[in-house]
Amino acid sequence: MPIKTVKLPNGDVVPALGQGTWMMGEGRRTRSEEVRALQLGIDLGMTLLDTAEMYADGLAEEITGDAIAGRRDEIYLVTKVLPNHASRSATIAACERSLKRLKVETIDLYLLHWRGGYALEDTITGFDALLKAGKIRSWGVSNFDVEDMEDLGEAGGKACAANQVLYNLTRRGIEYDLIPWSAEREIPLMAYSPIEQGRLVRNSELQRIADRHRATPAQIALAFVLQQPGMIAIPKAGNEDHVRDNAAAADITLTPEDLRDLDLAFPPPRRRQPLEMI
Ligand code: NAP
Repeated sequence: MPIKTVKLPNGDVVPALGQGTWMMGEGRRTRSEEVRALQLGIDLGMTLLDTAEMYADGLAEEITGDAIAGRRDEIYLVTKVLPNHASRSATIAACERSLKRLKVETIDLYLLHWRGGYALEDTITGFDALLKAGKIRSWGVSNFDVEDMEDLGEAGGKACAANQVLYNLTRRGIEYDLIPWSAEREIPLMAYSPIEQGRLVRNSELQRIADRHRATPAQIALAFVLQQPGMIAIPKAGNEDHVRDNAAAADITLTPEDLRDLDLAFPPPRRRQPLEMI
């Protein structure tokens, strides 16, 4: 089954399930193994790739660039600028360095990794210049809570195309406020660490639900994130079995009974919680 898609504000249609790259290029596996894992994921339809200048000091972007070489047209490419590079001129310079490492002419979605010391207006001016120059096709933010999003709107950030935030069964705080706030304004959310950096794969309740679907706990964790309308999940997997497992999670539909059991094991928020960050 093809992976379900999400339509972004500019009309781009992307798979709801993509691939992360944090910790790639850090020596856990060889570069070619990591490239192959990403390529397998692309072959299986996870064509949205998420990376950042921060990851392995640029090496994760290089690995991503290797993985997409010769097939740029199939890919929706996301990378991020560090907050300490987020002045107008430093944003432009950081983007140019990322383009080189990725070996591409343009980035589909360029995110401010988290809010830092520079005024949001300053960063937005840099993003606008990059848009005009065709170096990025859209921009967004990451780790922005509701108030940050409101500040962004006031700073002239109406063009924000997405907000990438921590979301998984053990981090459900955004269901209380950020998810409804974003849905009302049609700003897509991208869930990072959707399997809690691997920690959810050992959960016994998830194993019980997974057994009903002949699935794995990781797949149930992903299926949970994906059942939120408009949510994009970006699991990272350097292991090819994990890549296959994750791609197949898109085929799982959780039943009302599954969702009830998940609510018991991982209670939804009853009050506002500040956005968590990893
Ligand atoms: P994650 O995707 O929740 O978990 C990754 C870990 O889970 C890896 O150790 C991986 O192992 C393991 N894993 C993946 N699929 C598995 C499966 N099917 N079965 C068992 N284990 C599995 O955590 P994450 O890497 O922190 O988050 C995903 C991506 O989100 C990142 O790579 C990054 O691109 C992005 N991110 C963004 C921010 C931000 O501030 N914007 C912060 C964190 C992450 P193997 O590698 O061995 O397969």
